[in-house]
Amino acid sequence: MLSLNKVSKRFGGLPALDKVSFSVKKGTITALIGPNGAGKSTLINCITGVIPPDDGEILFGDRQKKNIAGLEPHVIARQGIARTFQNLRILPTMSVLDNILCGLTVQASSSFTGAMLRLPSLRSRERLFRLRALEMLDRFGLSGRADWPISVLPYGDRKKVEMARAFVSEPDLVLLDEPVAGLNQEETGRIAVLLKQMRQAGFTMLLVEHDMELVMRISDHVVVLDSGRCIARSTPQEVRTNPLVLEAYLGT
Ligand code: ADP
Ligand code: MG
Repeated sequence: MLSLNKVSKRFGGLPALDKVSFSVKKGTITALIGPNGAGKSTLINCITGVIPPDDGEILFGDRQKKNIAGLEPHVIARQGIARTFQNLRILPTMSVLDNILCGLTVQASSSFTGAMLRLPSLRSRERLFRLRALEMLDRFGLSGRADWPISVLPYGDRKKVEMARAFVSEPDLVLLDEPVAGLNQEETGRIAVLLKQMRQAGFTMLLVEHDMELVMRISDHVVVLDSGRCIARSTPQEVRTNPLVLEAYLGT
C-alpha cells in the first residue's frame, strides 16, 4: 500500500531522515519505533504532506502506485490517507457524532466518500453519512454517547473518537500517532482489541508508538529508526532481540 524509497529530509544541514526505505503491506499493522529524535514525526509529516521531503519517493496506492512526495496535505488526504494526532485534534464543544461526521466531509477518500458525494440529493447524502458515522461509533463502543459533547468524555473515549474519525471514511491507510499515550493498561488493552478488529476489517495501519508491549502485541512488522536511519525492518520477535535495536535504545 505504501513504499518509501530513500526518503531524506534535512533541517538546517542536519539530517532528520537519511534515505529511509520500507514498505507497508495492505491489511497489516506496521509499527514505526525509535528513540526520541529518531525522525518518526518527521517521517509521518513527510507522508502526510505537512513537510516536503528533500529527496526520495513516497509511493502510495493499492494497485496503481503514485508518488505523493511533496503533494499538499489535503491532496494526500483525498488520495486515502487519514491520520490521528498525538495531541488530540477533535473539537471539544461539538458532539461525538458531529466530530465523526467531520471525518467524512473533510476526508473525501477514494472509495466510500467518493461514492457518497455522487448521490443526487443532499438529504440522502446526509442520511447515509449519519448512518455510517453511527456504525463506526458502534464499532468503537461509543454509540450511547453520540450526542455527548466531547468536553464531558473521559480521555480514553476522546482518543477513541479521534480514531473513529480517522477510520470512518474508509481510507486506504491510517497513520496512528501514539494511540495509547496517556492511557492506563486496561484502556490500552481495549485499543489493542479495536485496532486488531480494524485490521480484520481490512484496514492498513502505520503506528507510531512508544508502548513496546502494544507494538509487540498487535503489529505484523516493525520498522526501527535511529538518528534518521532505518536500522531494522522485521517482525516484532526479531526486533526484540536485534543487537542494533537494543544498542539504539539502551544508548551510546
Ligand atoms: P521523533 O519524532 O522520532 O522523536 P523528530 O522527527 O521529531 O523525531 O525529530 C528528528 C530530528 O529532526 C531531531 O533531531 C529534531 O530536533 C529535528 N527536527 C524535527 N523537526 C524539526 C524542525 N521543524 N526544525 C528543525 N529541526 C527539526
Ligand atoms: Mg515525535
